Amino acid sequence: MATQSPPLSPWQPPPDFQPVTSALEGITVYAPRPKEAQIESPVVYKCPNCGATTQYDVAAGGVACEHCGYTLPVSGEKVGRQAEEYEFTLDALKQAQQTWGTTHQMMHCDSCGAEILIPPGALTVTCPFCASNEVGVRAAAVSQIRPNTLIPFKVTPEMTHARAKEWLGKGWFHPKALANNAVIDRFSGIYLSFWTFAARIESRWKAEVGYERTERFYDASARTWRTRVVIDWRWEDGRVDLSIADLLIPGNSHVSRVILDKLLPFNLNELVEYDPDFLAGWQAQAYDIPLADAWDQGKEVMRDRAKNACRLDIHSPHVRNFSMVADFADEAWRYSLLPVYLAAYRFENKVYQVMVNGQTGSVAGQKPVAWWKVWLAIAALLLPGLALGLVGLLLIAVGIGIIPLGVALILLMIGGFISLKIYQQAVASEAA
Ligand SMILES: [Zn+2]
Ligand SMILES: [Zn+2]
Repeated sequence: MATQSPPLSPWQPPPDFQPVTSALEGITVYAPRPKEAQIESPVVYKCPNCGATTQYDVAAGGVACEHCGYTLPVSGEKVGRQAEEYEFTLDALKQAQQTWGTTHQMMHCDSCGAEILIPPGALTVTCPFCASNEVGVRAAAVSQIRPNTLIPFKVTPEMTHARAKEWLGKGWFHPKALANNAVIDRFSGIYLSFWTFAARIESRWKAEVGYERTERFYDASARTWRTRVVIDWRWEDGRVDLSIADLLIPGNSHVSRVILDKLLPFNLNELVEYDPDFLAGWQAQAYDIPLADAWDQGKEVMRDRAKNACRLDIHSPHVRNFSMVADFADEAWRYSLLPVYLAAYRFENKVYQVMVNGQTGSVAGQKPVAWWKVWLAIAALLLPGLALGLVGLLLIAVGIGIIPLGVALILLMIGGFISLKIYQQAVASEAA
């Protein structure tokens, strides 16, 4: 009879260990459980009074219930340009929270590929970027870096239409009927993703710099002394330190850069700390230009600015063989949401884009041009010079002075310059 030994209590792994795949059959291997990402439960926006859905109300500056009027102000501590920035380290990226803390659903547009976060139960499912209805909605936790800061909407949805109408009526080279006949779609308020970058750039430049010198020389053919300007070239170098803060780079490739540029600036002094309350009932746009790519764009802009600063360091208009080495230090980034209203409007069977800055109320967009007005203006600008030039030529033919021809040339140059500016403005106003 076998002796009964007391049952061995099996070895227990420490509480924060878990079994992992083992290379040896029959042997269980334990390893520390990976630290779970902090996933906070998203805020559900229901009125504590009546149970209706609440949303962020621009005029009230808080989360409000349309049904019973209950309003809860959002603290949104103002941090402005002093808002915390992150270094470009893996640690900083890991620390950046990966969820937005909202119950927004991800909407994917099959037409333009944009991904937009829409509030739960949103009634309209139209892509705000391309106005397509071919959208798919799926509930997905936003597994992106959480924004650090945002600028709350200040312009109410009710104000957008009047602003856009006023903007449509401005400018003389657009169709006269534009302001009255344009049919503007409903504006959709959306928070757009922006990266902001800061860095110190130490640049060393080297170039051949030319200096003008007047010298006398003997003109052998005319048998006389004359003066002429010569340029002496010499190698120079220098160092320029430049600090750039709050450089904005859009995080989205579906918004027209041309229009977005016209919509800037935002007043970054009004940045507040991110709070999901601001997004209640509003759309937001998840970035599709990741941090690393945006930083590449940002560095390019900074390099250009450093180059300009170096050129200003050279006190001569004559420069050749310019080269520059730029060292970046103290690089930091921030991720912000900025408020914009998007809409399309129809005019004479064509669709144009228009945007309203949700903070400042400034409007930018595409505007059709009445080209006959542009050509008429250009003709009016060039005609006096041309006419005077003809008269001048006739006068020279009969041997009377060169002065009218000179005046004609000056008039043509001025007229040509203004014409070019008008033409460029007209082209720019149709661009998107
Ligand atoms: Zn209520
Ligand atoms: Zn779309």
